[in-house]
Amino acid sequence: MQPDRRRKKRRKRAKDRRSAKYTLRILRVVLLALLVTLAVLLVLFFAQKKKEAKAAEEAQRLAREEAARKQQETEFKIPDNPPEETEALMPETEETVQATTMIFTGDVLLHQTTLGRYQSSGLPGILSEDLIETFQNADILMINEEFPFGLTGEPWPDKQYTFRTDPQYVTAFQDMGVDLVGLANNHVLDYGESALLETFQTLDGAGIPYAGAGADLARASQLQVFEVNGKKFGFLAASRVWPSGSWAAGPEHPGCFGTYDPERLLAAIRAAKEEQGCDFVTVFVHWGVERNTMPEDYQKSLAKQYAEAGADLVIGMHPHVLQGIEYFGDTPAFYSLGNFIFGGNSYQTAAVAVTVYPDDSKEVNVIPCIAGGGFTRRAEGSEAQGVFDTLNALSFGAGVDAGGACNPL
Ligand SMILES: [Zn+2]
Repeated sequence: MQPDRRRKKRRKRAKDRRSAKYTLRILRVVLLALLVTLAVLLVLFFAQKKKEAKAAEEAQRLAREEAARKQQETEFKIPDNPPEETEALMPETEETVQATTMIFTGDVLLHQTTLGRYQSSGLPGILSEDLIETFQNADILMINEEFPFGLTGEPWPDKQYTFRTDPQYVTAFQDMGVDLVGLANNHVLDYGESALLETFQTLDGAGIPYAGAGADLARASQLQVFEVNGKKFGFLAASRVWPSGSWAAGPEHPGCFGTYDPERLLAAIRAAKEEQGCDFVTVFVHWGVERNTMPEDYQKSLAKQYAEAGADLVIGMHPHVLQGIEYFGDTPAFYSLGNFIFGGNSYQTAAVAVTVYPDDSKEVNVIPCIAGGGFTRRAEGSEAQGVFDTLNALSFGAGVDAGGACNPL
């Protein structure tokens, strides 16, 4: 090999060694940078974890303190419910301790089919077990009693349908857990004054308050108040349908509270809010035209006036069928809940459940039901959706979602 070529080769080898060294140095630097970055990331990650753990611990501590405070408040308000009882051992959330649930149904008639079923099978003969449980668990259950309890009196002359039920069957209301009965309607005087007075005695004897009728106008228009979870819930009931003006209660005359002229009812709503300090006022009203799925203009106008006077909820019934929902501000008006327990062929109906939270916010839910042959049960699946679809098709700027929650659109 020539000396020249050897030199070239040596130079090339030296150059290769230098370049390899150089590459190695770069790789070392890159590796070091990666390690440093990884270390920084790990430090940041653990710092963040620690911060989160601390925040969670703080939130838990606050929740424990809040629960203890609420528990103390509850114990203070309900002295006959001592802390060593189950509530104290099983702390519940604010909602389950202090939210109040009210359930409303439309017309209930214990007559012929329904009465026969009740006589032979008791309450499970006319209501499904899940509905019975839901009703019994509600803080306040209000129904419309579309008949008098009585053994006396004569059928109202020239009236197509007249109802009257033996007072002993008031046990059906007690079994259901009925807390309040609406009596302002076009059937409660079907057997005249004497059966109406028997109705008052029957309900009084069963310990069930009633609204919308009374021995005189003062009693018929009297606000019924329930104090639950530290809040005052007021209820008024009135009718815009009856066969004769003589059904109206007078100063010394038994009968129903009317809302043909709404002035007295509007004044009662305002007084419930402003003078009697109610946190929540419900107006339970009998109105509309039988079998009509659309409300009359007067129903819309009255609902608006009730809401403007301070009503937080308007529950209507009488047309036998479901009518739609409309909101006036925060106040939902259910124009008609339809027959709830009535007999007859199968039909869609609904109960309304309203939950009022400690901050006065409310949740309104439709309990979809199917009634028929004297038996009412909760609708499930596509049947439930059918009830919601019916309500949605009939409502005015309001809707019911697939879970039954009702809201303005
Ligand atoms: Zn009616």
